[in-house]
Amino acid sequence: VEEERLQKMKFKQYPNLDKYQVLEQMGEGAFSVVYKAVHLPSGKDVAIKILRKFQMDQQQKQAVLKEVTIMRQLKHQNCVRFIEFIDSPVYYYIVQELVSGGEIFTMIVKYTYLSEDLSRWIITQVAHSIRYLHEEVGIVHRDIKPENLLFEPIDFKPSANPIAKLRKSDDPNTKKDEGEFTANVGGGGIGVVKLADFGLSKQIWEHNTKTPCGTVGYTAPEIVRDERYSKEVDMWAIGCVLYTLLCGFPPFYDERIETLTEKVAKGQFTFLQPWWDEISDGAKNCVSNLLTVDPKRRYTIDQFLEDPWMKLESKSVPELAIPSRVP
Ligand code: ATP
Repeated sequence: VEEERLQKMKFKQYPNLDKYQVLEQMGEGAFSVVYKAVHLPSGKDVAIKILRKFQMDQQQKQAVLKEVTIMRQLKHQNCVRFIEFIDSPVYYYIVQELVSGGEIFTMIVKYTYLSEDLSRWIITQVAHSIRYLHEEVGIVHRDIKPENLLFEPIDFKPSANPIAKLRKSDDPNTKKDEGEFTANVGGGGIGVVKLADFGLSKQIWEHNTKTPCGTVGYTAPEIVRDERYSKEVDMWAIGCVLYTLLCGFPPFYDERIETLTEKVAKGQFTFLQPWWDEISDGAKNCVSNLLTVDPKRRYTIDQFLEDPWMKLESKSVPELAIPSRVP
């Protein structure tokens, strides 16, 4: 019955994708389109990344196969789960679990910036996915950004959610408390956060029980050294994401790419007034330890998770809070 109903809705049917009915588009990349779809035998929703093979050269095809190889290894609640890969003559299909809330990026655009509690709630989950990738799988993601962080929405029924009981106002949509307005987004909020897009991820050579490292003995020292340091690029990116969550704009920005590169190379960022005035010193200190130019002195994932600001108890997670002073 469900199958008939969907067929009648006249969504595009893709070749060699018989088990799935493709529904609406969810996102787009350079060579790919991501659709919501239904797995017809089970009725379960999935996301399918569809790549047009005819537009890709050999190297790009290899990159897709590598992305699939990496995704297959991942089993963590904060990483988008891989379901199956279908290689058809015209398209590659990467079937994944559906993460229905969309991108964290959209939330920043919509709410300008997020409270410290909500930012911590999001970045802690990102940190757990990265600790898993770095320490258990032995890969670096290399493309952490708000567009690649997806979330599951959660319901906020005041009776069901103890956090919601902290609300002092009777108005279900807004409250004024300690200089903050807290907005409840249609009764929903940000639940589980998942890292997506492993297209740029890279396996690192490591003496790790779970990573095959048979060829490591032949690898040149400069390569080993480089790969070892490559984990630090993810920590830098986490710092950029945390900064952006807290204030609504990225730490490094310039119209000219040359100037931007120079600022990044020197680690030239500031906690710009007045946007950062009301953000705690603890949060600033944590961001600074991530945005440290020297990779040896930059926070590792374990140091980040042990940071005092990260360990603070959140009082209103995961409500979306919008600080009252939007300049
Ligand atoms: P890019 O060119 O930006 O690197 P890409 O081709 O590698 O993109 P993804 O980043 O994997 O593709 O996906 C593009 C977009 O599709 C995501 O930003 C997101 O909005 C959406 N998307 C991807 N995977 C899922 C999923 N599992 N559930 C829901 N939406 C998804």
